[in-house]
Amino acid sequence: MNNSMKLEFLSISENEGFARAAVAAFIAQLNPTLDELDDIKTAVSEAVTNAIVHGYAGGLGTVHITCVLNENNTIISVADMGRGIENIDLARTPLYTSAEEGERSGLGFTVMETFMDSIEVLSTPGKGTVVTMQK
Ligand code: ATP
Ligand code: MG
Repeated sequence: MNNSMKLEFLSISENEGFARAAVAAFIAQLNPTLDELDDIKTAVSEAVTNAIVHGYAGGLGTVHITCVLNENNTIISVADMGRGIENIDLARTPLYTSAEEGERSGLGFTVMETFMDSIEVLSTPGKGTVVTMQK
């Protein structure tokens, strides 16, 4: 099946659940297993939370999601036009977090890598970040 969709929403934490559900609803047409669906929902949640919490750091901005369904794979990208990432390798290191308070564990990218087949991170400080994941 070839299909695609785009989603755009404000960087408000309530929209994390919306993004998760919307992507899941779109992917349902592939008849995924519950495990596959859960993996994708978890990865989308992590990427969207990062866009909201780190990209826009509590300020307001727009988060964009693109989802492309091909014969062989599903490609999901989550983009923000927020502050960007200075050192992508460091950011992707398990347990690394730039958050000072205790509520982040630095495992978001590790979760995305574990639950998806591949992830690519493109980021420009001051311009924003695009995380593209395939499964
Ligand atoms: P957790 O996801 O476990 O709550 P975390 O968000 O700090 O903690 P990761 O999701 O692995 O951990 O992200 C690691 C770091 O990468 C973040 O602490 C942040 O500095 C940076 N980062 C991730 N996504 C973005 C983004 N969209 N914009 C700016 N910085 C980001
Ligand atoms: Mg995170």
